[in-house]
Amino acid sequence: MYDIEALFEAESAAHAVELLREHPGARIIAGGSDVLIGIREGKLAGCTLVSIQKIDALRGVGIDNNGTIRIGALTSFSHVSADPVIRRHIPVLAEAVDTVGGPQLRNIGTIGGNVCNGVTSADSASTLTAWEAVMEYLGPNGTRLVPIKEHYAGAGKTALAHDEILTAVLIPKESYENCFGNYIKYAMRKALDIATLGCSANVRLSKDKKMIERMRIAYGVAGPVPLRALSAEQAAAGKAPDAGTVTAAAKAALDDINPRTSWRATKEFRLHLAEELAKRTLTESLKLAGVSI
Ligand SMILES: Cc1cc2nc3c(=O)[nH]c(=O)nc-3n(C[C@H](O)[C@H](O)[C@H](O)COP(=O)(O)OP(=O)(O)OC[C@H]3O[C@@H](n4cnc5c(N)ncnc54)[C@H](O)[C@@H]3O)c2cc1C
Repeated sequence: MYDIEALFEAESAAHAVELLREHPGARIIAGGSDVLIGIREGKLAGCTLVSIQKIDALRGVGIDNNGTIRIGALTSFSHVSADPVIRRHIPVLAEAVDTVGGPQLRNIGTIGGNVCNGVTSADSASTLTAWEAVMEYLGPNGTRLVPIKEHYAGAGKTALAHDEILTAVLIPKESYENCFGNYIKYAMRKALDIATLGCSANVRLSKDKKMIERMRIAYGVAGPVPLRALSAEQAAAGKAPDAGTVTAAAKAALDDINPRTSWRATKEFRLHLAEELAKRTLTESLKLAGVSI
């Protein structure tokens, strides 16, 4: 049995915002794969829920006129993974969400829930961070756009106000055009396990493929929130796409991260993983971009 005080069914995103205003202690439930466990464990027992499950307008993937990829907050991991727009333009996001839990979880869990729980290990989060995603919030005063870096406000916290909901995750064209990326989740099991460390990188090469125009790399579980390793990015930008650059960038990443020791792994092991996964994700990204190293 779940200890729930009340459940309100929102009929639209605006209605969800209205319900949150009317019930200041209420919490959004999307797929429920985090929320229901919280209720079961007692942390959220007796809560009031606003369900957004029936709002079909928040589901699906599309491309806006300006080329921005729009992923509705309520889109399930299975949908994201199979979607032709994602497969064509950001296949690494499909790979990242394919590592979440198991098949049942991927059918109910949503991309919005994955970034709104504020958790550093969320498998879509490092890839969305590495692709400079922008969060679209809806609140009583309308829509606001929040870069993913600002969306994460601390461990388990987001910049969403109580009466705001996430309506979509946006990837601007400039962020994905001619970019190739790779994600590696290091976990103790191949399924149904949370990342010990996650690393997502992507590269854009010059037309003659002799220079890395831009490299971006982000980690999950390397700090309290998903974070980009800017020193690593600087170490690769403008350099030749070769093994030396990959090694230097992977080492530089260690300057930007601060993993902790937990029951899953020590800080030292996570640092070791961070360097190794940077090398592997970068090497694979360069291969996808057409360079063999
Ligand atoms: C067995 C199991 C295995 C798991 N394995 C993984 C894994 O490998 N990798 C991983 O990343 N996660 C994993 N998870 C965690 C979870 O499934 C994901 O975080 C999932 O994306 C949550 O989505 P949801 O739709 O179920 O969210 P919900 O549980 O409905 O909500 C999660 C949080 O986000 C808020 N929220 C949801 N949608 C919105 C919105 N649109 N606007 C504002 N707030 C919102 C809710 O209020 C709540 O705080 C696992 C969970 C379980 C139970």
